[in-house]
Amino acid sequence: MTPRPIVVQNVSKTYGSVRALQRVSFSLPEGVIFALLGPNGAGKTTLIRILMGILPADEGQVLVLGTSPIEARSYVGYLPEARGLYRQARVLELLSYLGALKGLSLAEARREALAWLDRLGLAEWARRHVDELSHGMQQKVQLIAALLHRPRLIVFDEPFQGLDPVNVQLVKDLLRELRSQGHTILLSSHQLHHVEALADHVALIHRGRIVEEGPLAEVKARYRKGDVRVHVAGDVPLPSTLPGVRAVQQENGGWRLIPEGHQAPWELLASLTQMGLPVERFEVVEPTLEDIFLQAVETVQQEAR
Ligand code: ATP
Repeated sequence: MTPRPIVVQNVSKTYGSVRALQRVSFSLPEGVIFALLGPNGAGKTTLIRILMGILPADEGQVLVLGTSPIEARSYVGYLPEARGLYRQARVLELLSYLGALKGLSLAEARREALAWLDRLGLAEWARRHVDELSHGMQQKVQLIAALLHRPRLIVFDEPFQGLDPVNVQLVKDLLRELRSQGHTILLSSHQLHHVEALADHVALIHRGRIVEEGPLAEVKARYRKGDVRVHVAGDVPLPSTLPGVRAVQQENGGWRLIPEGHQAPWELLASLTQMGLPVERFEVVEPTLEDIFLQAVETVQQEAR
């Protein structure tokens, strides 16, 4: 069996009367980008803090890189949700110091820091004080601090927060590159369109429980409803009723067909072409992560009523 960088079994955590995590279990395959999603207050940060050995779980088992979260710390790169750098320090000195704390020699840490600053467009800021940098630049410095020691496992809480589109792209490319080098990445983010473009595997957490989990493609397949999107040449209108179709809705210059039941997409396409409609484009509608998120949260809320 391939090694699992993170294994969580029946983990619970309570703060006073708040049940932040309730018997959470999942494991992370090696070399993937795994996204932890969930509404505000769902328990994501609590789970990440337990994985980082910052908080103890009340119950359950946690293995990080095959050992306890505290022992695994020097092999993990962590970008916390609450960011904070020593604001009076100079960027390069701070990064060299943080790299040395993670086990690099000072010379090695300095070399790595310079290479990363260059890579992330911050080379000319190396000798400035942290508080002279913009919010987004400080965020990139903190990213570098998490990556300097080339950790096997990378845990980023909201990595895109406060970044402009160019820097979001830079970080996305970086995460893909790290994955291609075999690193495992766990991230939490509310920016679902970014996650959609990156993640191999997702877990949706709601009120302290995992309500959906799996490879992104499998999760999407579970939420696919069989709706199709059709574009017809010219302004030819679609009839309001079609065989096997429950509803025909106009959207974005095309049409969405909602099938009655088990109508396969090819059957819908066959009836459209048999009617002589000049079909230009025909596609099965893929649920977005946002659709999945909203639907899964709604289902859990209905079940709780
Ligand atoms: P967000 O997306 O808003 O950052 P989250 O999914 O990261 O939320 P957590 O921060 O893990 O959620 O919080 C889970 C629950 O635990 C919430 O109800 C929160 O109010 C509660 N909680 C978190 N930290 C503490 C704490 N130190 N003391 C008391 N309650 C806490």
